[in-house]
Amino acid sequence: GPAPEADTEARDWLKRYGASFGHFINGDFRPSTSAKTFVTHEPATGAQLATLAIGSAEDVDLAVAAARKAQGPWSKLSGHQRARHLYALARMIQRHGRLLAVVEAIDNGKPVRETRDIDIPLAARHFYHHAGWAQLQETEFSDHNPVGVVGQIIPWNFPLLMLAWKVAPALALGNTVVLKPAEFTSLTALLFAELAAAAGLPPGVLNVITGEGETGALVVDHPGIDKIAFTGSTEVGRIIREKTAGSGKSLTLELGGKSPFIVFDDADIDGAVEGVVDAIWFNQGQVCCAGSRVLVQEGIAPKFHARLRRRMQTLRVGHPLDKAIDMGAIVAPVQLKRIEALVNQGVSEGAELYQSDIELPKVGSYYKPTLLANVQPTSIVATEEIFGPVAVSMTFRTPEEAVQLANHTRYGLAASVWSETIGLALHVAAKLQAGVVWVNATNLFDASAGFGGKKESGFGREGGKEGAYEYLKPKAWANLKPRAEI
Ligand code: NAD
Repeated sequence: GPAPEADTEARDWLKRYGASFGHFINGDFRPSTSAKTFVTHEPATGAQLATLAIGSAEDVDLAVAAARKAQGPWSKLSGHQRARHLYALARMIQRHGRLLAVVEAIDNGKPVRETRDIDIPLAARHFYHHAGWAQLQETEFSDHNPVGVVGQIIPWNFPLLMLAWKVAPALALGNTVVLKPAEFTSLTALLFAELAAAAGLPPGVLNVITGEGETGALVVDHPGIDKIAFTGSTEVGRIIREKTAGSGKSLTLELGGKSPFIVFDDADIDGAVEGVVDAIWFNQGQVCCAGSRVLVQEGIAPKFHARLRRRMQTLRVGHPLDKAIDMGAIVAPVQLKRIEALVNQGVSEGAELYQSDIELPKVGSYYKPTLLANVQPTSIVATEEIFGPVAVSMTFRTPEEAVQLANHTRYGLAASVWSETIGLALHVAAKLQAGVVWVNATNLFDASAGFGGKKESGFGREGGKEGAYEYLKPKAWANLKPRAEI
């Protein structure tokens, strides 16, 4: 069971605020001007966790004004001065890594083993990496200016990591931020804000406004914001794209996915089975680039499915603070209901359902590792993002058929190809409509590699030099070359 002492520090942190939080504006926490609040719950138990402020138009005004005031001086710091701030933030994340990992696990329901080993270290890594771009700004980006004040809206599946993906490049390149975390999971953003203030980040450079979709819409609509960076559902992304069109705001969108996981006859079967575990049961399948469509070549399909089902039986589901589990809780009851409804619909459309026969905890939002086999490409479970621990599988005969099936989706975020014939893997990889393709691997991320989608998975990149450009605007005069040679 969960080690009770493991979360003492987290409970003490919550107690310090009376489990009730305001917004972080201009370097300080303050209550919402509207006095409206909402309550969040622990996915693992359903118990009430915290009370959070709902950001009003006035709150967003205050945050944008603070960010605007801070932006000039922040952008006028030399690159290496800003880099020092980013290094300080990275070190703060590392120093408080255990607290952040536990708060994240309690708030989101994901295993603390994952937050400790993946979410939190990668978040620190993003600040370290982008400190480098800050230092290189004068030489690498001398013909560019910062965009200005950036509104950033993030989802609940990797709360602190999504914050880092957005905040690190924005700050590194001289922008200031108004961040709206997801309503289910705002705690690590608030804790990060507290740590940023303690690290000496100047007031106004980072502001956090909590709330639901309406608050996000207020950020999107605010005329004082120069760019919106959004990660979330394709539906909300579409609304934001329509609203920002013609507004003069820059926009990047990181949206949903239904990524193919292609296994050829000659693949290392055990490696590919472990790959599926990583692709769809990591983070309870709540991963935008999850390999949710497993496409298996006919020759090995029976053997592959048999081994996959055997492996499913060994996955342990339980309390997020129990270090001996593989899967934690689903973020909220509403998501759990959505997963159940989609799986039922898949079964009624002819899919074969496999679930491991384990006992789930009696309270909290849990779902078993699930495989839907022999799915029709037109079935709702093959086309809709389930965003839960549910793999669907189909078979194919030829590489051409694999490519056709893989690209038969409105999304284009990621893809994974498994074959011991590297020529075949690279040939297929080149034909896949996806922003990221992994060969004999899956769900690998690094701050130096630009991540982002094609098609309805969005546009823009996060990470690397291409991600840095998303927070810069070319200087108009930089391209005016002397015309004497004409
Ligand atoms: P969501 O779109 O419902 O919410 C995302 C954020 O947008 C939340 O902070 C929410 O409060 C806010 N929001 C909701 N309505 C809004 C509106 N009208 N205007 C402005 N903001 C609004 O998505 P979610 O359920 O939190 O996240 C799951 C989705 O995110 C999945 O589709 C997943 O694939 C996607 N996702 C994509 C990536 C990526 O990098 N491509 C990463 C993680 C998650």
